[in-house]
Amino acid sequence: MLRKIKSHYAVIAGAICAALLAVPASAVITAEAQKAMTPQQAFEALLEGNERFADGVSLNRNLTDEVTATSTGQFPKGVVLTCLDSRTAPEAYFDTGLGDIFVGRIAGNFAEEGMIGSFEFAHKLAGAKVLAVVGHTTCGAVKGACDGAEMGNLTHTLAQLKPAIKKVPASVQPRNSKNPAFVQKVADANVRYTVKNILEKSDVLKEMVDNGELGVVGGMYDLSTGKVTFFPDTLHGVKMP
Ligand SMILES: [Zn+2]
Repeated sequence: MLRKIKSHYAVIAGAICAALLAVPASAVITAEAQKAMTPQQAFEALLEGNERFADGVSLNRNLTDEVTATSTGQFPKGVVLTCLDSRTAPEAYFDTGLGDIFVGRIAGNFAEEGMIGSFEFAHKLAGAKVLAVVGHTTCGAVKGACDGAEMGNLTHTLAQLKPAIKKVPASVQPRNSKNPAFVQKVADANVRYTVKNILEKSDVLKEMVDNGELGVVGGMYDLSTGKVTFFPDTLHGVKMP
């Protein structure tokens, strides 16, 4: 009887081990790996990570081990600019671990000088190969901007989305947050405007793109599916695989 119970547990233990082995483990990025990586490879790594996340097969991570492995340096493959929204976590939706990506967050995912300077550090000095500007669906900041909301310093924050509102044709009516199609068109326009704005304001980053050292891309995260869709007309220095 005892032997039967033991063998039963052995079968269960074996099944658990097999299940764990089926999900590949993560590895932190090294200086050599970052140096050898092209912007295209870094972009494709984001695409593949998002596919794993959306499919529910994110890598098996031991974050405690990653703390140890990254304690002496960081060699991230990319930078993600995203909204403050608590549901949009790039480390999760691109299935990355510690030391994999820099993340810049601000309500409405726009880029002012302080943010752009941070990106120049991340790419030119810290070696990251791709910059992804990622907006998201049903964005509260975009809705607030569409309604002309004003409150304290938030007034200044939302004013940064005005160029995107202007880009949406006047034929799209009504122009407020009650029109989901208008809100999404503003969010899309904001990503495109932000990508363009970063490259216009940063000679450092523009030169890196021109030299094949950096890819800059824009996309939209769908809160209902977990998928990021990149806009082909926002791709600089990389292409869709
Ligand atoms: Zn948002």
